[in-house]
Amino acid sequence: MNRKYRKTIIAGNWKMNKTPSEAKELIEGLKAKVGRQKWCDVVLCVPFVDIPVAVRTARDAKIAVAAQNMHYEKSGAFTGEISADMLKELGVKYVVVGHSERRQYFAETDKTVNLKVKAALETGLRPIICVGETLEQREAEITEQHITAQVKVALLDIPAELVRKVVFAYEPVWAIGTGKTATAEQAAEVCALIRAVIRAKYGARVARSVTIQYGGSMNASNAQELLSQLDVDGGLIGGASLKADDFAAIIFAANQ
Ligand code: PEP
Repeated sequence: MNRKYRKTIIAGNWKMNKTPSEAKELIEGLKAKVGRQKWCDVVLCVPFVDIPVAVRTARDAKIAVAAQNMHYEKSGAFTGEISADMLKELGVKYVVVGHSERRQYFAETDKTVNLKVKAALETGLRPIICVGETLEQREAEITEQHITAQVKVALLDIPAELVRKVVFAYEPVWAIGTGKTATAEQAAEVCALIRAVIRAKYGARVARSVTIQYGGSMNASNAQELLSQLDVDGGLIGGASLKADDFAAIIFAANQ
C-alpha cells in the first residue's frame, strides 16, 4: 500500500449470496465491528436486488455499495440487464467489471469490459476492473503478456482524467474460491506490472494514483502480508466477505 498517493480499498464481493434481509443483517453486523473507520474505503459488491437495502443500511457508515455487473448500453432491448444510470440512481458508487466468473460463464470479453468501463465512467460510477491469468497461462509463463493485454484493452479510449477513477483488481483465476492464494511476491509482481502498463500509457502521476487490489482467497490470516506490498492497495474478497467477523478482520488488517 502507498497511502500517500492512493486510497486503500477493501471490497467484498458477495457473488450470488444474501437475500435483502440477510444483506441488512450482515451490514449491521459489519457496522457494529468496524464503526466509521478512517484508514480505508470499504465497498460491498452486492446482488442487484440487495442494492436498495444495502445503500440504506450502509448510508451512515463509511461503506459504499457496488454492483457486480452492468450493461454498457444506456437502455434498450436487453432483457434481464441493468444500466449504469439505473445503478447510479440507486446510490451505487462502484461496479465490478470483467470478474473471471463473468468471463467464464457469461461470455464477458476484454472488448465488453472496455465498453462497460467507458459506460461506467461516463455515468460517474467507478469500475473495479478484474484481470487475471488461469493456471495454464501461469504455467506456460504468459502471465505478463496476458495481464498486459487485458489492462491495455480495458483502458482503450479512456482519457487520463478518468483513469484516476478506475480501480484494478488482480485476481489470478486459479486463486478465486479455491483456497489457494497467490504469494505476496506473486501479487506484488503482477500489481506492479499493472501499474507499469498504466504508467507507460498515462505517465507516472496518473499511475501512482490508481488503486490496484489483489483478490483470490484473501482472508484474515493472509491479508496483512498481501496488503503490506507496495503496489497492493487493497483487496477484492469473495468468501471471506460473507461473515461480518471475517470481513472486519481484513479491514483491520488494512490498518497495519
Ligand atoms: C472474488 O470473488 O473476487 C474472490 C476473490 O473470491 P474468493 O475471495 O472467494 O477467492
